[in-house]
Amino acid sequence: MTHTHAASAAGTATLTGGLPTRGYAAASARSPLGPFEFERRAAGPKDVHLDILFCGVCHSDLHQARDEWGGSMFPMVPGHEIIGRVKQVGAEVTRFTAGDLVGVGCMVDSCRQCADCREGLEQFCQNTLTLTYNSTDPILGGSTYGGYSNQIVVDQDFVLRVSEKLDPAAAAPLLCAGITTYSPLRHWQVGPGQRVGVVGLGGLGHMGVKLARAMGAGVSLFTTSPAKADDARRLGADEVIISRDAEEMKRHSRRFDFILDTVAVPHDLDAYLTMLKRDGTLCLVGAPDHPHPSPAVFKLILGRRRLAGSPIGGIKETQEMLEFCAEKGIVSDVEVIPIDQINQAYERMLKSDVKYRFVIDLATLA
Ligand code: NAP
Ligand code: ZN
Ligand code: ZN
Repeated sequence: MTHTHAASAAGTATLTGGLPTRGYAAASARSPLGPFEFERRAAGPKDVHLDILFCGVCHSDLHQARDEWGGSMFPMVPGHEIIGRVKQVGAEVTRFTAGDLVGVGCMVDSCRQCADCREGLEQFCQNTLTLTYNSTDPILGGSTYGGYSNQIVVDQDFVLRVSEKLDPAAAAPLLCAGITTYSPLRHWQVGPGQRVGVVGLGGLGHMGVKLARAMGAGVSLFTTSPAKADDARRLGADEVIISRDAEEMKRHSRRFDFILDTVAVPHDLDAYLTMLKRDGTLCLVGAPDHPHPSPAVFKLILGRRRLAGSPIGGIKETQEMLEFCAEKGIVSDVEVIPIDQINQAYERMLKSDVKYRFVIDLATLA
């Protein structure tokens, strides 16, 4: 399956001097990913042009490539856990030079003017947030194309510095799984003396376990996969609870300060709300395509508990998270795959059979 596409075909932009780029795309919600050629913009004065080394495979890639959330744009080149080396920079770029190890996460631009952008919380931008893929491209028209590709051009303000101390393949998932778990753990001030639950040991969940542990909290992992218990302890959990065991689940009421739920399918939330202490918070980061069954209002009222959600994290906090990880030696546990294995990786992700993040080695892109 080979497609060629230029944004000019959509009648929105004429590409002159664009960069011929290779990647993998889904042609429709029902087609597997396959080789795809397209053009990126040539680097403007404020742009950083990077060669992509590795790109993590997030469950959000699968949700969007299969149009499970609605509104997907095709062809779609997924990928928002990008690690690369700077190839060249525009004339006004001051913070990066050729050869730097850098990252790009879920966002490549925002309005920069709304109250949220001004606070460095671009993920909440009230005007135009440009996501790394499957977003309208404000410069070329058409849609943005993500990291399952050999190169990308991004405004310097949305490029992150990555420490050479970190293994680049294992650092890639920090750009989404890392910040998506770090940001709520920081927002709800998780730390020593607290008991934190993490639900699901996948890409986000295993980063949640590592980060909550590194912040000093006691960490309990809720899993549907008993075979992951030893890994969970190695990753930093001091307790593993099998969530399919209803009797076991009942033994933990009113114990938790904070529970981070990373599960990608609808499930019962009441069991987790019951486990919160007074004023505790259940924060959803998993984003299933169908709603969860409604929580029982009395579980919230009696205990003044909170049910919350959190999206990725801002650029400033992502940089802070990368520095925290470099200092603590935290990266993801990854299974590096050639890009032609991406469709099999999606099927394994659906079976919770990932240890604990697939990362594409872009050197395998023929
Ligand atoms: P993942 O690697 O597939 O992990 C999800 C985990 O959920 C699985 O490993 C599994 O862990 C658990 N699980 C699977 N089926 C389950 C079931 N039927 N009941 C209970 N638990 C089940 O996915 P991910 O990349 O971490 O992403 C997780 C979710 O977060 C996705 O919906 C994704 O779109 C979303 N996400 C949200 C944000 C955000 O900004 N909020 C950012 C990134 C991703 P066990 O085997 O341990 O049970
Ligand atoms: Zn993601
Ligand atoms: Zn904004």
